[in-house]
Amino acid sequence: MKAEGFRPSKINKKELHIFTESAELILNNSQKILNCGEYFHCKPSFSFVSTFYFGGGHIPLGVLVLGFERDILRDWCPNCGEVNRWVLSLGGGLSIGWKWGLCLNCKIYSKTEGSATEYIPVWKDLIPLIMSFPSKGYVEVEKQSPKFSWSNGIIYKNEKIIEKVVYYNPLSLEEVIHELINGKERKCSDVVYSFKDPELQKAFMKKESW
Ligand SMILES: [Zn+2]
Repeated sequence: MKAEGFRPSKINKKELHIFTESAELILNNSQKILNCGEYFHCKPSFSFVSTFYFGGGHIPLGVLVLGFERDILRDWCPNCGEVNRWVLSLGGGLSIGWKWGLCLNCKIYSKTEGSATEYIPVWKDLIPLIMSFPSKGYVEVEKQSPKFSWSNGIIYKNEKIIEKVVYYNPLSLEEVIHELINGKERKCSDVVYSFKDPELQKAFMKKESW
């Protein structure tokens, strides 16, 4: 079993600042983000799920927006006490848990921590949501590969190979915000929705980060 939780390679402070300044803009443009693969699958460095034993990964921007709108990622703020904190990352283990996010009233980031109940109810609703929006798939393709033998020399044989297909070339958060501010009409890829993606489920069962 994987005992280490997922950790992003580096949290980009500039990106965090942009997010603070643009949280309202993002929510006001939720439909644009939810309908555009390049926006939806933007993966802010600070937004992730990190769980011991269960693996983890980044939360795409589209899932952040849906999670807030559906109250999965909306939580009380320890500063003002109002339920207007946007949970941006969460994690824990079997006996500890934490949630971290931005209060839209106070414009401050805060972390709440305690027992596993701190994150498990969110995790339970959030993971199926992330898994329903795959950013990659796997297809079987036939490829010719050379085979050598002393009697026949080089001959080409068809072989079936499983190839990974990445659906999107997602934008950075900075690029998304720039386009939303300027009202750019982007030609977007459709957002793939697949309830129970078998490949992702398999990856999940293997405790890999997604
Ligand atoms: Zn607050």
